[in-house]
Amino acid sequence: MTDSTYDVAIIGGGPGGYVAAIRAGQLGMRAAVVERGALGGVCLNVGCIPTKAILHSAEVLDQSRESARIGVVNRDPQLDWDGVMGHKERVVSQLRSGVAGLLKKHKADVHQGVGTLLSPTSISVAREGNTQTINARHIIVATGSAPRALPFAPIDETVILSNTGILSLKEVPKHLIIIGGGVIGVEFASAYRSFGAEVTILEALPRLVAVEDADISAELLKAFKRRGINIQLEARVTGVERTEQGVVVTCTDTGGTSQQLTGDKLLLAVGRAPLTKGLGLEDVGVQTDQRGYVQVNSSMQTSVPTIYSIGDCQIGERAPTPWLAHVASAQGVLAIEHIAGHAVVPIDYTKIPACTYCSPGIGSSGLTEAEAREQGYDVKVGRFPFSANAKAMIQTERTGFVKVVADARHDEILGVHIIGPGATELIGEGVLALTHEATGESLIHTIHAHPTLYEALAEAGHGLFEGPLHL
Ligand code: NAD
Repeated sequence: MTDSTYDVAIIGGGPGGYVAAIRAGQLGMRAAVVERGALGGVCLNVGCIPTKAILHSAEVLDQSRESARIGVVNRDPQLDWDGVMGHKERVVSQLRSGVAGLLKKHKADVHQGVGTLLSPTSISVAREGNTQTINARHIIVATGSAPRALPFAPIDETVILSNTGILSLKEVPKHLIIIGGGVIGVEFASAYRSFGAEVTILEALPRLVAVEDADISAELLKAFKRRGINIQLEARVTGVERTEQGVVVTCTDTGGTSQQLTGDKLLLAVGRAPLTKGLGLEDVGVQTDQRGYVQVNSSMQTSVPTIYSIGDCQIGERAPTPWLAHVASAQGVLAIEHIAGHAVVPIDYTKIPACTYCSPGIGSSGLTEAEAREQGYDVKVGRFPFSANAKAMIQTERTGFVKVVADARHDEILGVHIIGPGATELIGEGVLALTHEATGESLIHTIHAHPTLYEALAEAGHGLFEGPLHL
């Protein structure tokens, strides 16, 4: 009789889970993926991919409006909303079939349904009243996260929206109000402003994208204001009322003055929470924290040795790990390699890229200047503005800068922070520099082609010493 036990069963087919299944296949393991929705998870279906498809349409529209400045007359560029939605849907569906194909290629079985842990080595999968049991030597919990709601503003996905509802609007709202000026808030503010909506961001903290270096937040604020986006920082939202036309949002500023804003759509972008309720974690002895995150060690192993957890639903020893698709995928690969008995190197969460695809875009990795100072480094900073970069000038995209944070004593690069053209791609060089513990000197000794946007990194490197060459 053949053994029907899988080597690994993964609950959740997002960028953590499906990548783990592929890696398992590569290492000769039999993997099963249990997924209640569409393969690809939030990232592929209602997150990174469709959002970036919409942002790309917004960027091309902006470029068409500006193209006469460089001799390409594109009279009266029009927004075709169905076309924007169509592009987004085609990309998502193509990538979704791609994931299914990759799982098939690596001989991973997909079990459609809701997975629940039955024991340290078994899962029940429920679908339309039927239940089946899957046995596996190891289990990976990769169930992800869901948008956090505010108690006074329940998400209905028609007027009060999460990142899901905002991706499928029938038309561009007249006034989009966004609560939260983090990654999701600024990306949608950027896209819908390009599409012609009035946009207001209400952010509780004193700056936008507050996890970024303070100089990046300040530059984004300046650029967004120039684009006509209304921004209220240190805003305290006290109430949301649904009306026939949309919503009325009541908020208070730092001086205690209360005001009411009327909009036709409201986006809630106030963070996310782990999706771990009802999974049976407690019943099989898996430890979670009080917010519901699964607790793992640096090999992604939970308190039950046969059960691992990766992605947004888990929390490591150096909590919290960032909620990013590429982090979930890296954790998936690591968990599988650990299961396979490989010697694994723990992920260094201080050196991962964070990219925000608004306009201007942001790419960053490593310590911010403030964090480096807090950690006791003798900090030196090199900066270079895109306004002095030839390629940025050619592209007529002169907003932003590159900022390199380094340790003055040993010259080690501690952080790279970019805002401006190509930032989300350029950060690749920064991540490589950080991963290989590069110094400011090695950055300037790396020959950068001319004219390129990435010359700005070398110039910021020169800024750590005698100053940039072209400034
Ligand atoms: P976030 O944590 O990035 O930002 C939430 C913001 O909302 C914070 O600035 C917070 O101060 C503010 N806030 C919270 N409560 C508020 C209130 N009551 N009133 C006003 N402001 C309030 O969270 P997000 O933007 O919802 O994104 C969730 C996660 O998804 C992010 O952490 C990110 O890792 C991930 N994500 C990544 C990308 C990307 O990589 N490009 C894109 C989208 C989402």
